[in-house]
Amino acid sequence: MDLLNTLVDKGLRRELPTREEALAVLATSDDELLDVVAAAGKVRRQWFGRRVKLNYLVNLKSGLCPEDCSYCSQRLGSKAEILKYTWLKPDDASKAAAAGVAGGAKRVCLVASGRGPTDKDVDRVSETISTIKEQNEGVEVCACLGLLSDGQADRLRAAGADAYNHNLNTSEATYGDICTTHDFSDRVSTVQQAQAAGMSACSGLIAGMGESDADLVDVVFALRELDPDSVPVNFLIPFEGTPLAKEWNLTPQRALRILAMVRFVCPDIEVRLAGGREVHLRSMQPLALHLVNSIFLGDYLTSEGQAGKDDLAMITDAGFEVEGTDTTTLPEHRRPCGDGAEAQAATAEEAEAPAATVPAPSDETRRDLVAVRRRGAGTDLPPNA
Ligand code: SF4
Repeated sequence: MDLLNTLVDKGLRRELPTREEALAVLATSDDELLDVVAAAGKVRRQWFGRRVKLNYLVNLKSGLCPEDCSYCSQRLGSKAEILKYTWLKPDDASKAAAAGVAGGAKRVCLVASGRGPTDKDVDRVSETISTIKEQNEGVEVCACLGLLSDGQADRLRAAGADAYNHNLNTSEATYGDICTTHDFSDRVSTVQQAQAAGMSACSGLIAGMGESDADLVDVVFALRELDPDSVPVNFLIPFEGTPLAKEWNLTPQRALRILAMVRFVCPDIEVRLAGGREVHLRSMQPLALHLVNSIFLGDYLTSEGQAGKDDLAMITDAGFEVEGTDTTTLPEHRRPCGDGAEAQAATAEEAEAPAATVPAPSDETRRDLVAVRRRGAGTDLPPNA
């Protein structure tokens, strides 16, 4: 298929596809799915080989958020029966982090619900970062605390945070549909503050919230422009008790096409398969390893993931290997994104893009696939790592 040949060539040269090419990937048919995965897999292997980076989530503070992000089980008014607790003590957070590191995680992601941290919260998290780093040699620490105020990014960096996560989640045009208490530009600004402070930026999206193909392409292009080092791709976990509980509109095939599109737009950026992979990819998860070079190990913030040992077995069985701490995730010569590549984008192939075959959304709800997390941080039960 000309479209795929073009996208592979561009990916190997780290060139940005056109919006039309990205849209055409989302519009490929199920008959073409393995060709799409194979093409994006070539780009993945060029920049990341067969390595899979493992990341481990520690929810420092769970639930009771004053913001109203409609996808989130921790939002204001959420009826989801998740664990709710206030700040974990540094030693408890470090113990939780150690379980992930023992399971092979290279990065620990410290997350707290809320609009953003107070300065006292930043002190608290700084102490937690120091404790984790003292007790877990070589681990990367990413903080995810919401919108940052002046000076907070510098303080987190000084405390040893290697990275900061703040997702854009969806396109600027539809951001107001998923959240009214802050806007898209607030999120962009926080990612930029993290970058300015010298932290590695991690920023991604959530697919499956009822957005259009154009919205998905818009958010991925907006991310590419921000030039994060890592792009987590979440698939909506439709929690009962949240406004999006009925949004079951992803198929495994659609999820794979979305991951392939993200890989083509971000060829040499860490693409991380995040929340919802078990729920929406189901038995097709191993195919996604041909597209992403990073996943979360074990459980998510408020929901259960596949058992950590099953994640490790899946990686080995699919012919991939867990990335060690002695390896740098990103390719040596990764250059700033968007550097003139659009000007070189081909146009001839656009006309030859396959006819759109938009898969029928599944309106079947699979509540059995969503399980609230009851283990690990904030509980007396051992974590899943
Ligand atoms: S700010 Fe974060 S924790 Fe709060 S509702 Fe939004 S996503 Fe959830």
